[in-house]
Amino acid sequence: MTCGQHTGTAREPVRSATLGESDGPLARSHDLALLDLDGVVYIGPDPVPGATEALAAARAVGMRLAFVTNNASRTPSTVSEHLVRLGIPATPDEVVTSAMAAAALLARRLGVGERVLVAGGEGLHRALEDRGLVPVRSMAERPAAVVQGFGPRVGRRELTEVVAAVRAGLPWIATNRDPTVPTPTGRSPGNGALVARVVAATGEQPQVAGKPQPTLFTEAVQRYRSRSPLVVGDRLDTDLEGARAAGMPGLLVLTGVTDVPELLAAAPGFRPTFVGRDLGALHESHPRPLLAGGDGARLVRCREAEVAMTRGELRIVRPGAPLDLLRAACVACWTRADEQATAAPDPTDPKDPTAPDLPRGAEVVVAALATLDQRRPRSR
Ligand SMILES: [Mg+2]
Repeated sequence: MTCGQHTGTAREPVRSATLGESDGPLARSHDLALLDLDGVVYIGPDPVPGATEALAAARAVGMRLAFVTNNASRTPSTVSEHLVRLGIPATPDEVVTSAMAAAALLARRLGVGERVLVAGGEGLHRALEDRGLVPVRSMAERPAAVVQGFGPRVGRRELTEVVAAVRAGLPWIATNRDPTVPTPTGRSPGNGALVARVVAATGEQPQVAGKPQPTLFTEAVQRYRSRSPLVVGDRLDTDLEGARAAGMPGLLVLTGVTDVPELLAAAPGFRPTFVGRDLGALHESHPRPLLAGGDGARLVRCREAEVAMTRGELRIVRPGAPLDLLRAACVACWTRADEQATAAPDPTDPKDPTAPDLPRGAEVVVAALATLDQRRPRSR
């Protein structure tokens, strides 16, 4: 299904800046969901509203679920127990973590029995042991490599050991580089923030094991023998970039880190195939916006929603349904960004220095889409 014919102007060919389309529910057209957890299924201890029901309905129509998280702090058993407490049936072997990816990478590189300096939580320690490696906590124990993952108690002492290891030239693996993790009260520093401190102290860069590296996705797809997987996530720079790296379609949900302005400003390698409010998007069809242009204006229509990009200014022609307006605005903004990236600067399209990645008028669209913001920071 497309979003309907545009009349009165010549239709342009579909560009890479467009979204994908799905005639029916994604849960029926994809046999496996590679689900991110934080910001998608739960936020901290609490389920994302509607997630439990949406995942049960997905299983009921035959979609299989794999839980693929960059959070390396917890073991698969701890994660699956958490899911079960939220009413989501899950087993440890349905959970894949970046700690497991880091441990697999180190096991291939070092061999069984080698010692690895760890700055991270229980999940990372356990993943190393499962691969026959020996986690240690200090350089005095003569490790052969160093691995860094998020852990609630990783602090100055652990980071000092990592810096010493990196300075000594040991192979340095980071489970992931997510700068933040969503919590019930907002964003808190993630492993990427801790890695950045070591980068600043050493001038070196780690090898990253988790998303956006495609390994977690491709291994899960092989294990499930999936023919039509769908990546589902809330972060452009891990989940959706990883989906593109793996050559898989990606659904962005707005229940976690990414907000509408970030989505509209997404660079080509970070753009989702589909967008939705929350996991209910698994049970919806996804229309593709249509681009049309002429007389200095570009129109993008998605069902009843229509936006115009005129001399670098974004304008709502018809609001339509919020998700359709978002889809149309994404295509309008992405197309403009891609054209600007390849064209000489347009003096009639001055960029707003306070929002360099978004066109003028985008704030009106963002305000019109306020009801789509599903992120619910709460005080507690
Ligand atoms: Mg997430």
